[in-house]
Amino acid sequence: MKRVVIVGGGITGLATAYFAQARARASGQDVEITLVESAPRLGGKILTERVGDFLIEGGPDAFITLKPWAIRLCEQLGLADQLIVPQPGREAFILYRDRLRRLPPGAMGFIPTNFASFWQSDLFSLWGKMRMGLELLVPTQRDGREESLGGFIRRRLGAEPLERLAEPLLAGVYAGDADRLSLSATFPQLAILERQHGGLIRGALAHRRAVKDQRGRPLFMTLQSGLNQLIEALVARLQNVRIITGQSVTELTRGTARRAPTGYHLRLADARALAADAVVLTTPAYVTAKLLELLSAESAELLTRISYVSTAIVTLAFRSSDITHALEGTGFLVPRSEGRELTASTWSSSKWPGRAPAGSVLVRGFFGRAGQEDVLGSNDEALKRLAYEELKSILGFKSEPILARVHRWPKAMPQYEIGHLERLAQLEGALSEHSGLILAGAAYRGIGLPDCIRQAQEAAERIPLSC
Ligand SMILES: Cc1cc2nc3c(=O)[nH]c(=O)nc-3n(C[C@H](O)[C@H](O)[C@H](O)COP(=O)(O)OP(=O)(O)OC[C@H]3O[C@@H](n4cnc5c(N)ncnc54)[C@H](O)[C@@H]3O)c2cc1C
Repeated sequence: MKRVVIVGGGITGLATAYFAQARARASGQDVEITLVESAPRLGGKILTERVGDFLIEGGPDAFITLKPWAIRLCEQLGLADQLIVPQPGREAFILYRDRLRRLPPGAMGFIPTNFASFWQSDLFSLWGKMRMGLELLVPTQRDGREESLGGFIRRRLGAEPLERLAEPLLAGVYAGDADRLSLSATFPQLAILERQHGGLIRGALAHRRAVKDQRGRPLFMTLQSGLNQLIEALVARLQNVRIITGQSVTELTRGTARRAPTGYHLRLADARALAADAVVLTTPAYVTAKLLELLSAESAELLTRISYVSTAIVTLAFRSSDITHALEGTGFLVPRSEGRELTASTWSSSKWPGRAPAGSVLVRGFFGRAGQEDVLGSNDEALKRLAYEELKSILGFKSEPILARVHRWPKAMPQYEIGHLERLAQLEGALSEHSGLILAGAAYRGIGLPDCIRQAQEAAERIPLSC
C-alpha cells in the first residue's frame, strides 16, 4: 500500500487530497492518504463566518473566472447551482485626492480599450491620458531581461496609470510593491500581450473580443453561502482520507535502508510519527523551509527568500439608513499616494446577494501591504476604530457600526519578487533527488484560488502511485 501525507489543510491541501483520492480510485491502487492541518479548523485562508443574518468573508470572497480550475472543482463537487455572480450594474472606484472616482470601464481595468471612458475619467491629467495613448507607439522589449510589474506598466503606459490604477488593482492581489514584484511571475499574460500583439492596448482589444466570444461569465464568482461551502464540500468528499487537525508537522526526514533512501518520516507536535512514500507540502514557504531544513538545506534557503506580507480585514455592518453613501458599486481601491492606512474596501452586501439582512449593509476595509504593515501592530479595538474613521470620511456613517469583526492574516501574502521563477527552477532542481516530495500552494505558481486548485491537481498527478 502506498502512503501519502499532505501537509496543510487550506484549499491547496484539501484539493490535493481530493484529486489524489480520485486518482487512486481510478487506478484501482491501494493508497492511504493522510492530511495534517495545524489549526483546529480546515480551510486555511478561506474563512466564512455567519453572524446572525450576516455572512462575513474573513479572507477571500470570490475567485476569478478566466482561470477555470475553481469553477471546474465546484462543478465536480456538485456546487454548480450554488455559484453566484456579482449583483448587476455595480462599478468599482478608486480613491483619488479623497474622492471616489469611477474605474474607467475597459478590458483588464487599467488598459485603455474604451478610449472615451478613459478620456472622460477625472482620474488622470491631460498629459497622463495622452501618454497612455502613446502606448500604441512604445516598442516591444525583447532583450529578455526580467522586468518588475511596476517597471513594465510605467514603460508602456506611463507613471499615472501605474500609481493611480494599475498598482492598486494588480499589486492589490499580492498586497505588494509593484516595483519589486516580478512581471513574469505575477501577470505573465501582460508580457504575452506585449509580445504577441506589440502592446497592451492592441493586445487587450484582441483579447477582449476573444473573451467575449468564449463566454458570457462575469470576471468573478463566489458561492451562495460563502467560500467555506467549497471547503465543506471538499471535506465531505474525502471519505478515504484520514484528516488530522490541530497538529503541526514539526519534522520531516528520510528513512534509509541499506544506504538507500526509503520514503519519509513526519513528526507531529504531539510526538506522533507518520511514515509516507510521498509527501505534499502545501504550507507557507517559511514553514516549508523549516520542514526541509534536515532534508535539503539548499531548498530551505531558497524558500526563505520568498517573503510575505501581513494584512487584516475589518468588516463593519450598519443600518442602511445610517450611511450617507449609496454604496452602488463593488468597493474601492486606495493608491499609496493617498497616504492612508486603508488599502481598499469592498461593499460586500452591494457586491453579492445574501451577505446582509434587508435594511443593513456590510462593508470590508483592508489594511496592510508591502511597506505599510506597522498598522497591524494595533490591537483589534484600535483597528476597528481606524477602519470606522477612515471609511466614515469616505462613505459618511451617521452612527456606530452594529457589528465589527477583525480578521488578521499574518505573513499571508507571498511576494513573487524579481527572480521568483528562477528560484522555483532552482528549488525544483534541489528537490529532484527526493522522489515523492512535492511542493504546492500559494507560495509558488499563483496565489489566487483557481491557481491553488490547479497546483493541487498537478501535485496529485505527480504523486508516484505505482511501485
Ligand atoms: C486576506 C486575503 C484575501 C484574499 N482574497 C482572495 C480572493 O478574493 N480571491 C482569491 O482567489 N484569492 C484570494 N486570496 C488568496 C488565497 O486565499 C490564498 O492564496 C489561498 O487560500 C492559499 O491557499 P493554500 O492552501 O495554498 O494556503 P493556506 O490557506 O495558507 O493553507 C496552508 C495551511 O497549512 C497549515 N499549516 C501551516 N503550518 C503547518 C504545519 N507545520 N503543519 C500542518 N499544517 C500547517 C495552515 O494552518 C494552513 O491551513 C486572499 C488571501 C488573503 C490572505
